[in-house]
This record gives sequence, C-alpha cells and structure tokens, in this order.
Amino acid sequence: MGRLEDPSDEGDLSLHSHEEWIFTNRNMLDAQILREVKAALKRAADGGFGVCLECGEPISPKRLEALPWARYCVPCQEMQGQSAEQGEAAEAAS
Ligand SMILES: [Zn+2]
Repeated sequence: MGRLEDPSDEGDLSLHSHEEWIFTNRNMLDAQILREVKAALKRAADGGFGVCLECGEPISPKRLEALPWARYCVPCQEMQGQSAEQGEAAEAAS
C-alpha cells in the first residue's frame, strides 16, 4: 500500500496515528459497502435488482451507476431520511 514500515521520524508520530485512524475508518466503510453489495447481488439473483424496495419502481440507471447497491429510488431514499450519500441531493434536485 506504499506505507513506510520504518517510523524513523519521531515527529511524524501524530500524523502516523492519524493515517492509522483513516485506514480503520475506511476499512469499516468498505465492510459496510461490501455488505450492501452482497445484499444487492442477492437481490439480483432474486430478480429484484435495480427496483426500489419501497415503491417497486425501477431505480434510475444514473443512480445505479453511482450507487450500484442502491435499495431505493431517490424519492423513497429521501423519505427514508438516509440521503447521506454524496451527490444524492444534487441528483434529486435536477
Ligand atoms: Zn421508490
């Protein structure tokens, strides 16, 4: 991953632990996304992929491109109050 194994510079210690923190959080995020992707693949096997779980309408290809594991269409996602993903607001506004 391009990380130096030797912490030769003591002054970099705080920076180092900060990087560690980022790594931990990114791994957690990856695990979360992996779960979503697995769930999406399962739905794909059931033939429900790309269909909103809430209203049954097809999820827009643009949204699926950005969020392949999306469970809900934009309006339903917003009603769920989980529009935290980046770009969601901009997409809904258009
Ligand atoms: Zn919907």
